[in-house]
Amino acid sequence: MTLIKSISGIRGTIGGALGENLTPIDVVKFTTAYARLIKDKNPNKRITVVVGRDARISGSMVDSLVEGTLLGTGVDVINVGMCTTPGTEMAVITHKADGGIIITASHNPRQWNALKLLNERGEFLDDAEGKQVLAMAEDVEWDYPTIDNIGKVVLREDFNATHIAQVLALKLVDVEAVRKRKFKVVVDAVNSIGGVVIPALLKELGCEVIAINCEPTGEFAHNPEPLPENLTEISEVVRREGADLGIVVDPDVDRLAFVMENGEMFVEEYTLVAVADYVLRHTKGNTVSNLSSSRALSDVTARYEGCSYAAAAVGEVNVVKKMKDTGAVIGGEGNGGVIYPELHYGRDALVGVALFLTYFAGLGMTMSELRKTFPAYYASKNKIQLTPEIDVDKILATIKSRYSNERVNDIDGVKIDFAENWVHLRKSNTEPIIRIYTEAKTMAEADTLAKRFISEIEQICKA
Ligand code: MG
Repeated sequence: MTLIKSISGIRGTIGGALGENLTPIDVVKFTTAYARLIKDKNPNKRITVVVGRDARISGSMVDSLVEGTLLGTGVDVINVGMCTTPGTEMAVITHKADGGIIITASHNPRQWNALKLLNERGEFLDDAEGKQVLAMAEDVEWDYPTIDNIGKVVLREDFNATHIAQVLALKLVDVEAVRKRKFKVVVDAVNSIGGVVIPALLKELGCEVIAINCEPTGEFAHNPEPLPENLTEISEVVRREGADLGIVVDPDVDRLAFVMENGEMFVEEYTLVAVADYVLRHTKGNTVSNLSSSRALSDVTARYEGCSYAAAAVGEVNVVKKMKDTGAVIGGEGNGGVIYPELHYGRDALVGVALFLTYFAGLGMTMSELRKTFPAYYASKNKIQLTPEIDVDKILATIKSRYSNERVNDIDGVKIDFAENWVHLRKSNTEPIIRIYTEAKTMAEADTLAKRFISEIEQICKA
């Protein structure tokens, strides 16, 4: 049973005691705080907020609470119903709303839910606004408006078809070129909203779709995080059906992973790498990912003259900020998150699918042949459990000074870029652990590097 309050929203398990789980009262408290923030930002203005949700079993219950609370705070609501995270973000932009709330716990299992909070650009609240919401949620001294000033539902309408049309209208999406290839595609959307929108998008692109786990019941057919160990079923179906590729999305459809024709993973890290390769062919510009993402993006960016790569701290809001600062034309996160600012500043699996298929259609090679055109890196992801006596800041400072002759980046933990590999050490924002991510040209080398740093950390702790 857990309730995690952070600047990016509130996340917790359904059921149990108030303040220790995502109970109805916690939802109301947090939604009220969010409404107050948006109202404070827009004094004397009638406020409209978009509400969307993924297909989680608790989605309808939380949606009712969020909608009712917004109305009670005097905010008008556009409710787009079952919608993806990127679709809800686009609805905020398209309807010119003042903000948005997405009801989804992303890749977390079925007992979880969360509120993701958006600003008027359909982007996540920044650090300062997130902190204000947290503070306001603790302050119950606030008067709700009286009867003449409560909000109303101004629109209750699906947005998924509009979002798909917006994606297909992008200049770099060539619908005709993809249609001609008549790709056979297997989709696994873990029985959430991706099961509706991804097949609909693929049909517009002339693909033959084999849908598995595409009923939006919220009964996740497997652990919803799109990692290889959770994707054995689609792997088998792609091979058996002789499909060109498989497509996997998480429950709120901001993460995208591909399966190759041989049933093996294209690997989540390479979703952004491939899409970036396509975008850079047509649009010269910079790229951004977070510090924990594959070096392959930096390598691919370097293939294009005048284009450069920059790393951001972990978290979509940090990546988006860096993309704006560097004028990046494509960016995202190694977890299969593609951000294409031509449409909007949010991870969007639909954009990823449409750009990727246009690219793939023009190449005339198989997925596994395409994969070989990218530098091969292997990542090892480890963690050390923290106990109260461990001083993480001291550990990171010691490591940083020890490796000061190397390329060190300390904007988010400590990342050391060696010539042939890298290590990134960072404290988790949500769990009492230090994450140790390494990447190298072989899996064995990545594991060895991780072991070396784990033992270094253990020695520092003992000293
Ligand atoms: Mg997600």
